[in-house]
Amino acid sequence: MSVWTLTYDGFDPASEGLREALCTLGNGYFATRGAASEAAAGDVHYPGTYVAGCYDRAVSRVAGREVENEDLVNLPNWLPLTFRAEGGEWLDLSRADVLGLRQELDLRRGVLTRFLRVRDGQGRTTMVTQRRFVSMADPHLAALETTVVPEDWEGRLELRSAVDGRVTNAGVARYRELEGHHLDPVAGGQAGDDIVWLLVQTRSSRIQVAVAARTRLAGRPRAVDAGRRTLEEPGHIAQELAVDAVEGEAVTVEKVVALFTSQDRAIAEAGDAARGRLSRLPDGFDKLLERHTLAWDQLWRRCRIDLGGDGDPEVARTLNLHVFHLLQTASEHTTDLDVGVPARGLHGEAYRGHIFWDELFIFPFLNLRFPELTRALLRYRARRLPEARQAARAAGYRGAMYPWQSGSDGREETQQLHLNPRSGRWLADRSHLQRHVNVAVAWNVWQYYQATGDLAFLEGYGAEMLWEIARFWASIATYDRALDRYQICGVMGPDEYHDGYPDRDEGGLDNNAYTNVMAAWVLCRALDTVELLCPDRRVELTERIGLGTEELERWDEVSRKLLVPFHDGDIISQFEGYGDLEELDWEGLARRYGNIRRLDRILEAEGDTVNRYKASKQADVLMLFYLLSAEELRGLLDRLGYRLEPAAIPRNVDYYLKRTSHGSTLSGVVNAWVLARSDRARSWRFFTEALASDLHDVQGGTTAEGIHLGAMAGTVDLAQRCYTGLETREDVLWLNPSLPDELDGLGFDVRYRGHWGVNLHLTRRRLRVQVAASDAAPIRVGVDGQVVEIPSGGMGEFAL
Ligand code: BGC
Repeated sequence: MSVWTLTYDGFDPASEGLREALCTLGNGYFATRGAASEAAAGDVHYPGTYVAGCYDRAVSRVAGREVENEDLVNLPNWLPLTFRAEGGEWLDLSRADVLGLRQELDLRRGVLTRFLRVRDGQGRTTMVTQRRFVSMADPHLAALETTVVPEDWEGRLELRSAVDGRVTNAGVARYRELEGHHLDPVAGGQAGDDIVWLLVQTRSSRIQVAVAARTRLAGRPRAVDAGRRTLEEPGHIAQELAVDAVEGEAVTVEKVVALFTSQDRAIAEAGDAARGRLSRLPDGFDKLLERHTLAWDQLWRRCRIDLGGDGDPEVARTLNLHVFHLLQTASEHTTDLDVGVPARGLHGEAYRGHIFWDELFIFPFLNLRFPELTRALLRYRARRLPEARQAARAAGYRGAMYPWQSGSDGREETQQLHLNPRSGRWLADRSHLQRHVNVAVAWNVWQYYQATGDLAFLEGYGAEMLWEIARFWASIATYDRALDRYQICGVMGPDEYHDGYPDRDEGGLDNNAYTNVMAAWVLCRALDTVELLCPDRRVELTERIGLGTEELERWDEVSRKLLVPFHDGDIISQFEGYGDLEELDWEGLARRYGNIRRLDRILEAEGDTVNRYKASKQADVLMLFYLLSAEELRGLLDRLGYRLEPAAIPRNVDYYLKRTSHGSTLSGVVNAWVLARSDRARSWRFFTEALASDLHDVQGGTTAEGIHLGAMAGTVDLAQRCYTGLETREDVLWLNPSLPDELDGLGFDVRYRGHWGVNLHLTRRRLRVQVAASDAAPIRVGVDGQVVEIPSGGMGEFAL
């Protein structure tokens, strides 16, 4: 098995959606699902093209209410390319006699190849090979090459190449009652013989999107272009070509497309940019592919994770697949955009392309390879600070309150109603109460700084975000005199099953442990940052946001007095009152329903509510052990006046693992992490389960609607940080390896503090850190409590 190829054989309508999502090609600017070039959107296929940050709002009427949603817009489909033999039908796999079909995704080069043999109604056999890529070298270009060989016939071969702008957002079944019409046609036409173009506009955000397509024959000399005509309708443009095909001789047609939107920089107008790009493009498919391949080659040099000699190839391949999709969603081409990382990639329409807290799982990989990219992604949040301030004010708080789901302008995009497909009921969605997203934003700012030492970023943007978030936590915390404690009430933790108390009308829970402990962490880092900034900038910033000593004192006090609930001795309660909830009959439910990952939907459909039970969708308390080392967590709890004995950690892990349904793919990543040192066999099972999340669509249908990028990046990060014990803390690169038994070794490069190549190589017995030669200052590496300095060009070896 190649660790660089994903192969699918045969045509399986039921898994076509999954394949399309997993075979998506993209470059961090735009992505296109791996739908067949002749496929139309319907129950089987869903071609989708998405540009990062291209959103549109629409109002729908559901359950007697008007609701507004913002979608990442499905843009004109540039793929359409089909053929027919004279007098036959246009290719349609559901009607043709498919003699052979194989699809291969080359992860190393970012190329999707499809081999197809079909026989038409008149018994004519044709072999087709298609290659496509979305250029990693030129973010606005994509190309599709189709080679048709008439095996046992000759005559007229007709080809049709189109750009279809009559698409809607219809990729997620449970959203289909919602408005999905986002594009209006604006213009289209021909630009020279072989270029057609289309311009459409999103309905409310008024973003213009232009796609130009150049279709050329590149086959053998005897394949003569026998005619070409352009067909134009509103929102759709096509060119038909006819050639005289000869038995056994290949006819090759190349389609190269350029995609621009009015949000792009350095253009005069989107249509002009798309047409201009193609009409001045001297290169054909092969030349473009060469540049694209070089770009991927360079990416892999930076991003490859080597699992050592006899590592399981399935694990290696899946990690490659995960890195591949991460880089297709966020790349150097994203750096110049004003976007965050959508939880479901640019691979489908689930969660509408919104940005959640998942970046917490995604940034650690990027921080150590493309710090300028995380910097840019954090600026997406920095630009939305005014909106977050307004949201805090409107809710009666100070500081900045970032939304649970974020889209174009940073307002709260969480849907107000969601559909339970099991019961058919539209239900109030309270997940916006997940204020802990503000922990994630602050955490990401701090981790970026730790990995890079980029003080200019903190001074320019980071400190202000951190302080405003700290301010929010200090103001949402209310003081209880009797307890002499601060409390945070009416919020949701990461576990989305619990959105309120069964006997309370208003939503939200009190003192979610994860939120409270991490709010204390944010307050501490905000105080550290005050000390870090150079004095002049500190004065400027504190003056600007009116931050005085008294407020800093309050931050300090809140960070020492937030309440953390416990029950059954040393079990950290997920929230206040969790210990009093009922135990769920897990076995009984599993017997009745089989897959019980989505317990919330099952119970709601039964007229019950998961709020009554000790049952979580995903890691919540355990997030604390995921983010913080045991020492850090103990330190924070000490500061809060609680003792956490080392033996309490495995008890907590065990307690919550028994009561979690893993309804989110993030759960497996967290569980694998928290068990990595205490129960390696179980940890590995969670790791392989997390690896399978998308590849085997463990949730049964969700991957077709978009990949789960948090889990994808999280699994790679398990290899990167968890198994090496890598931490960037206190200006030191800490390493504390713990290789799973299933791996012989681990090797990868990171960029750290100005060094482009810090190579980590780990075997069972030794750890080697090699720093490539450069002008950057020596790095400090800590192993086993000892910190050593390694200069550029130097190496450190540590026996384990
Ligand atoms: C999870 C969230 C996550 C979201 C987007 C939900 O199913 O519960 O934690 O942020 O998906 O990935």
